[in-house]
Amino acid sequence: MKNVGFVGLGQMGGPMSRNLIKGGFTLRVFDLDPKAVAALVKAGATAAKSPKDAATGADVVITMLPIGAIVEQAVFGQDGSADGMGKNAFLIDMSTILPLDTDRIGKRLKERGFAMVDAPVGRTSAAAIEAKSTFMVGGSDADFARARPYLEKMGEAIIHCGPLGAGSRMKLVNNYMSCVANLLTAETLTLAEACGIEIDTALEVLRGTPAGRGHINTTWPGKALKDDPKPEFMLDLAFKDLGLALDTAAQLNVPLATGASARQMYALARARGLGRDDWTTAIYRTVRGLAGRK
Ligand code: NAD
Repeated sequence: MKNVGFVGLGQMGGPMSRNLIKGGFTLRVFDLDPKAVAALVKAGATAAKSPKDAATGADVVITMLPIGAIVEQAVFGQDGSADGMGKNAFLIDMSTILPLDTDRIGKRLKERGFAMVDAPVGRTSAAAIEAKSTFMVGGSDADFARARPYLEKMGEAIIHCGPLGAGSRMKLVNNYMSCVANLLTAETLTLAEACGIEIDTALEVLRGTPAGRGHINTTWPGKALKDDPKPEFMLDLAFKDLGLALDTAAQLNVPLATGASARQMYALARARGLGRDDWTTAIYRTVRGLAGRK
């Protein structure tokens, strides 16, 4: 377990492959960008002519590419990695791609006798440089164990999420929360500014409340995650508070798209008779109910 074929040496793959070299692995690397390859050769890697060439003699092939179609092309296209992989080699795909693409690539590899692990990354390139990435891993127990020594050189949190495809699925779940929270943060601070509050003051307050610390770290463990409706804070009151923010924002010409759709869901929860329940449990029950999950 020494030889790595690495395909995709961009913002993420560049520093990650460097960390594998630092960790004692031997790398054959390929990227469409010759400059990215040259930089890795300087760090001790061998340049490969194609994904197939990178995979030749490798114990594992690692891909870190933009989208599923490109991963599939690099693995199965002309001079693709699958044509170079030896009998016991396997693939770790760390790209963020559609779960159905992960499933299909895994199936195609299996047909050719190769295992696959999906291991998308949960932090940015700054963490990749410091080998502090989070990996959400999908694959069998045995394949997870095989992938772990490589992932450990690139990250600090390596979480087995389930069978092949579970990593890609967990990654989109994570990114959904992250993307919406990003917009919510922008709306919140714009509202604070429009209300005449200093941003630093708003940050000081928000960093100490569930709003800024995150519900999964504060309100949810004791209530929604236990499906406990006994109110710590009643949904009716949360609905009132959301209305105060939306009405004030309207007067100040601040658009709160996230808040406006949240108000509809709070109204629905009240219409379902959950107004006097805990706000976290009531909202969770409402969304799960709409999704047909009892
Ligand atoms: P990037 O664009 O910097 O790197 C992609 C690399 O792939 C480039 O060097 C490009 O030349 C190369 N490439 C493209 N097509 C190729 C092909 N057919 N064969 C060989 N090489 C090819 O992107 P990135 O930021 O490194 O992201 C890679 C993946 O990781 C994406 O799926 C992204 O969503 C995900 N991701 C990125 C971050 C981040 O902070 N940048 C964080 C987590 C996950």
